[in-house]
Amino acid sequence: MTPTTPQHASMIQFPTLENQLVIGGIPISRLAQRVGSTPFYAYDRSLMTERVAELRQHMPPELKIHYAMKANPMPAVVQHMASLVDGFDLASAGEMQVALDTTMPAAQISMAGPGKRPAELLQAVAAGITLHVESFHELKTIARLSEQTGIQARVAIRINPAFELKSSGMKMGGGPKQFGIDEELVPEALKLIKTLNLDFQGFHIYSGSQNLKAEAIIDAQQKSIALAISLSDSCPCPIKKLNIGGGYGIPYFPGESPLDTQAIGEALAKPMAEFKLTNPKAELIIELGRFLVGEAGIYVCEIIDKKISRGQTYLIVNGGLHHHLAASGNFGQVIRKNYPVAIGTKMHGKDVETVSIVGPLCTPLDILADRMQLPTAEIGDLVIVYQSGAYGYTASPSKFLSQPDAVEVLV
Ligand SMILES: *Cc1c(COP(=O)(O)O)cnc(C)c1O
Repeated sequence: MTPTTPQHASMIQFPTLENQLVIGGIPISRLAQRVGSTPFYAYDRSLMTERVAELRQHMPPELKIHYAMKANPMPAVVQHMASLVDGFDLASAGEMQVALDTTMPAAQISMAGPGKRPAELLQAVAAGITLHVESFHELKTIARLSEQTGIQARVAIRINPAFELKSSGMKMGGGPKQFGIDEELVPEALKLIKTLNLDFQGFHIYSGSQNLKAEAIIDAQQKSIALAISLSDSCPCPIKKLNIGGGYGIPYFPGESPLDTQAIGEALAKPMAEFKLTNPKAELIIELGRFLVGEAGIYVCEIIDKKISRGQTYLIVNGGLHHHLAASGNFGQVIRKNYPVAIGTKMHGKDVETVSIVGPLCTPLDILADRMQLPTAEIGDLVIVYQSGAYGYTASPSKFLSQPDAVEVLV
C-alpha cells in the first residue's frame, strides 16, 4: 500500500451543479466547450469583487489598497481590478503597458524591482508613475533622465528594513537583500534627493509574501509605520505616500486556515492614526497580489490517459508544470505538497480511488497531484487545480518542451 494524502478541505468558493464545478455561473464542461480547448485558466470576476469588498470592510476606511500586478497580469483581470482598487504596483515596463490601458491614473501607479533598465525607467518617467528606487545608482539614473527629458520624476525610496516579516513563505526584507536601500543608508539617500530635482513621494517597505499569521503581519506593519515616522524629519518634503507592503497569504495546503484580516484591520487603526499626526496629508497604502486574485482562479486540464504502474494509478492530463509550475511544487516549495485538486466533472462522485495526476512532460517533476484520494475519473474528465488565480500561468515555464499554450478566460 502506498500512503494516501488526505483529501483537501473542499474549496467552497465555487458551487456545483449536477456533479460539475460551476465558475462564473457556467458548468465546467460547458465552459471548456466555450473556450474550445483545454488546458485553460478561468478567473471569476465576482470573486475578486467580493474579496476586495470584504477586505475594505475590515480595513480602516482611509487605507488605500493597491493591486500587485505580477500576481496575475492578464489584461482583462487588470481591467477588472482597476475598477476595484486604488492603485497598481508594477514590476516591469511590460506590466506598465497593461496598467496604462486601464482607467487607473498614472499618479496611482508605482513600479518596484531591482535592476530596472534605463529604457524602462525612461518609460516610467514619461508615464508619470512613481518609481520605487532600489539603489543609489538607480536614483542617479532617474535624476539624469529627469534632467534630460525635463520631466520631474516621481520617486519613493524602497527601504530594506532591519526587521523581517516573521513566518513568511518568502522573505523580501531584513538582512542583506537585493531589494531596496538598507534602512541605515536611507538618511544618506534622502540627503542626495534634496540635491536633485525629483518629486519625492515617500517610502515603500515590502517585507515578504504568503503569510497566514495575522500577528506577524501586524508586527511588520507597525514596524514599517514606526520606521517611516522616524524618517519623516529627514525627508525633503512631507511624505505623500507610505506603502507598507502586504504579504497577505491564502491557504493552499491541509491545516492552513484563511488569514484573519479583521484582526489586521483593527490593529492598523492605531499606528495609522499616529502616522496621520506626523504626516497629515499622506496616503497609507497596502499592496496585495495573491490575496486579491489567488482564490478566484482555477486551472483546468483534461485526462487523456489512465494507467496503472505497479499498483499505482496515474491520470495523465494534457496540462502540467509548463502552465502551472506552482502546483507542481517547484515554485518556492521546499517539500512538495499537493495543491487542492478536484475532478471538475465528478464533483460528487461516490466511488473514490487514490491517483497521481501527471502532465505530458518528460520529467518526473511534472506532477499535479501525488497519491490523492479523488472521485474515480476517466479519460475525458476535467481536472481542476484550485487557488490558481495568482502565480499561475505567467509564473510558469510555458516554453518548456514545446507544448501548446494554455488559454486564459475571465468569467
Ligand atoms: C510580489 C510582490 C507583491 C505581491 O505579493 P503577494 O504575495 O502576491 O501579495 C507586492 N509587492 C511587491 C514589492 C512584490 O514584489
